[in-house]
Amino acid sequence: MISVTEALSHLFALVRPLGSEWVPLAEAHGRVLAQPVQALRDLPPFSASAMDGYALRNAEVAVAAQFTVIGEAAAGHGFAGSVGPGQAVRIFTGAPLPEGTDRVVIQEDVDRQGDIITVRPDPDPAPYVRAKGSDFAKGQTIAGPKTLGANDIALMAAMNIAEVPVTRRPVVAILSTGDELVMPGDTPGPDQIIVSNSFGLQAMLRDLGCETRLLPIARDTEASLRAAFSHCEDVDLVITIGGASVGDHDLVGQVAVDLGMERSFYKIAMRPGKPLMAGRLTSGAVMIGLPGNPVSAMVCGTVFVAPVVRAMQGLKAQETAQKTAPLAHDIAANGPREHYMRGRLENGQLTVFDRQDSALLTVLADANALIVRPVRDAALTAGTMVNYIPI
Ligand code: AMP
Ligand code: MG
Repeated sequence: MISVTEALSHLFALVRPLGSEWVPLAEAHGRVLAQPVQALRDLPPFSASAMDGYALRNAEVAVAAQFTVIGEAAAGHGFAGSVGPGQAVRIFTGAPLPEGTDRVVIQEDVDRQGDIITVRPDPDPAPYVRAKGSDFAKGQTIAGPKTLGANDIALMAAMNIAEVPVTRRPVVAILSTGDELVMPGDTPGPDQIIVSNSFGLQAMLRDLGCETRLLPIARDTEASLRAAFSHCEDVDLVITIGGASVGDHDLVGQVAVDLGMERSFYKIAMRPGKPLMAGRLTSGAVMIGLPGNPVSAMVCGTVFVAPVVRAMQGLKAQETAQKTAPLAHDIAANGPREHYMRGRLENGQLTVFDRQDSALLTVLADANALIVRPVRDAALTAGTMVNYIPI
């Protein structure tokens, strides 16, 4: 048996980063920035008022000082003239600071009578000016590769970046295998169950930025599996589910090898999800064969498939990020396999569920954390800090 880390490094060795494409800014959210982009202008592009008030000369501000209001500057409507001694311009947030001024006295700090303003006692000393380029200057870059979040999109919009270079979405085929499986909505026979893993993994892969192709369920026959693989010629990654261990009906590996895959089969020292198959198909696509047990498939999706997909998109080849939090209660020692235990983080503390059977989807759905127990981890007491993967 090999460790999770070793298995991941074998998987990363199969990854070839995908090419890039340009997408409109509105479609860049969640995509991976493929190369640095540069601001096309300064923000603000002029010194701007940060408040509603009066623009004037800082040096002239004193309690009871008076100024004549000679005009107005609003956002999108600057004051065209120049401001001289003893003069002020009525100004609103976002308006360009008029020539000759270097401070905004907020409207609460003056009394106005006609065109004359008088500074009240104790005026707020802040200048309330956003200097030209103080947020970013033309040419400033956003470095890739990184997954673009909502705040990155706002920044790129302000930089006037209308088209964004992103890594192509990985195209992933998802293939569930098994004579016992039918689609949700179908009427199952007495010895059948509804396929669940395909849908769970599809959701996970979409969240990771993939384009997914849900293949029809393959039956436990060579012909059916061969037909399924024939629909995978033009994808980047094939995820098979089930049929991957060593039972009489576990034909996935055999068929893939017959079709030219160099197969690596890993027995991984982990729970849930011991068997994992991987290789490259003759088309060049990476194949990852996941165990069929629903929780195993989803946990292996988190632990193995997600890092592979991130690496394909040009992100750093590294394991799914872990966090730490204290245990809410004592837990027993771990055995010889790394254990990804379903649990919940609540109020900053981790509760590990009692039921850890790898077929229990309700337990997985209740979980928001996979508590990672190292091999032969000792029994731990409440309050001990442990690693977990948020799910
Ligand atoms: P297998 O790896 O094919 O031996 O499957 C192990 C267990 O997982 C069996 O109980 C299967 O019925 C179940 N299983 C396999 N594939 C799926 C799937 N796509 N959705 C739900 N359960 C599955
Ligand atoms: Mg099966």
